[in-house]
Amino acid sequence: MALQKETTPTHIHTLLKQHFGYDTFRPNQQAIIENVLKGKDTLAIMPTGGGKSLCFQLPSLAMEGTTIVISPLIALMKDQVDALKSNGIAAAYFNSSQPQEEQSLILEQLIANQLKLIYVAPESLWGLTNHLSKIQINLVAIDEAHCISSWGHDFRPAYTQLSRLKAEFLGTPIIALTATADKATQDDITKQLGISHATRYISSFDRPNIYLDVRPGQQRIQQIFKFLGSRGKQSGIIYCLSRKSTDMLASKLKEKGYDAKAYHAGLDAEERSKVQEDFINDRVPIIVATIAFGMGIDKSNVRWVIHYNMPKNIEGYYQEIGRGGRDGLKSHALMFYSFADVVMLRKFAAGTPTEEFQLAKLERMQQFAEALSCRRKALLNYFGEYITEDCGNCDICKRPPKYFDGTLIAQKVCSAVARLKEQEALGTVIDVLRGAQNQQVLEKGYQNIKTYGAAKDISWKDLQQYVIQLLNQGVLEIWFHEKGRLLLTPFAKQILFEGKTVRLANVIQETVEAEKPKRL
Ligand code: ADP
Ligand code: ZN
Repeated sequence: MALQKETTPTHIHTLLKQHFGYDTFRPNQQAIIENVLKGKDTLAIMPTGGGKSLCFQLPSLAMEGTTIVISPLIALMKDQVDALKSNGIAAAYFNSSQPQEEQSLILEQLIANQLKLIYVAPESLWGLTNHLSKIQINLVAIDEAHCISSWGHDFRPAYTQLSRLKAEFLGTPIIALTATADKATQDDITKQLGISHATRYISSFDRPNIYLDVRPGQQRIQQIFKFLGSRGKQSGIIYCLSRKSTDMLASKLKEKGYDAKAYHAGLDAEERSKVQEDFINDRVPIIVATIAFGMGIDKSNVRWVIHYNMPKNIEGYYQEIGRGGRDGLKSHALMFYSFADVVMLRKFAAGTPTEEFQLAKLERMQQFAEALSCRRKALLNYFGEYITEDCGNCDICKRPPKYFDGTLIAQKVCSAVARLKEQEALGTVIDVLRGAQNQQVLEKGYQNIKTYGAAKDISWKDLQQYVIQLLNQGVLEIWFHEKGRLLLTPFAKQILFEGKTVRLANVIQETVEAEKPKRL
């Protein structure tokens, strides 16, 4: 392990001011940095723009030795290294695209202990270990760490090699950082890196200034015209699933007198960058695009984002609505969904190697679209951020359905999930609660567990709807990676043991009053 200099809060504040010119830390930065400086492995989940880089750059300055930074994209590496150099910090990147002489120069500097940070692509890392073993490595940072997990959305085979890091740099702390990882992917990242005990820091993903709004997709074009009617020349993005719809919608908007342009991967590179530039510089206010649009675009004043079709999963939805309101001012996220969207998305997933997994995520997206409780709560719960208060800034909070006290139902469901040892998916949990006599239930002996038949007075469909509501409220969650098992969250424990209450919405009124407590 690296020798540590003084690592008091005052010292890291001094470094923050001295090297980066900032007076205060962003949320979680200080805690993460202190953890790293204690020599502990760390997982940092932070939204884009949250300030992840500082979490390994500053500790490097506080310690003797050199930090290895694994980064997947050459462009990203270059930007970060340039920024560090302009702050007077010795850093370099190493990858296969560099000329031989440049590589040699960097290796010389490295061995002479002249670099505080060396950025490496995962593919290039193993060619460097000879050199790295000659110097003191104080920290290994893995940026975009979700790339290691085939459960994440951006799997890179070269990242799997990183499982050797822990053994290669024995005793050196590892910090893994990412902006996108659901809870299961977080677990997978730490497992694969051999740092299951790592301290986790999950920054808030909340973007309270974005109004969340979901509507059925009937006559969506008319609905869009109505929505745009009051929006003047505000900048906004409309996401569609297909290139054809972007062209169609852009020309309909133009016919109506709106200044809109289509953007998709079918346009040539020149045309694409022109559309982007026009949007960024407020020359064209409306872009109708496929999800190819937006990556790496930093435009602060996007006032609305419309999903013409339902996105294929909640990660994508979150990322796309997050392109609105970066300036902190109000932004409106309007999503349409219809069964036709679901059918189309199922077709996209069909036959792919991860079909089952994608379909499970799609189903969760659909459940979010049909939510009957605060959307923000559902969204944040999905990312493992368990908030209890309704947000007041979503369509459901604005026009809530009628709720009743669903605590008893929730207790029964949670208790069944617990007694099934969190091994079963939604369908089986409902079967057990309803005392079903089917083969699967009987073969596993589930008729003998205590909650068997505890909710037999509720119809299958209603119970399913309640369980979905419990998912959206963050009482339960789905383990996507194994036949969609239902898991309990910390909320569930509060409901079972600490008298926490739950509201549910009446879907079909008449079936709810039949509720009679049975044994739990
Ligand atoms: P991420 O990698 O999480 O997307 P970055 O590390 O690129 O985010 O940081 C985003 C921006 O925030 C950068 O311009 C960075 O300089 C700035 N930043 C980071 N930490 C702070 C801080 N404590 N105070 C002010 N600005 C910060
Ligand atoms: Zn809300």
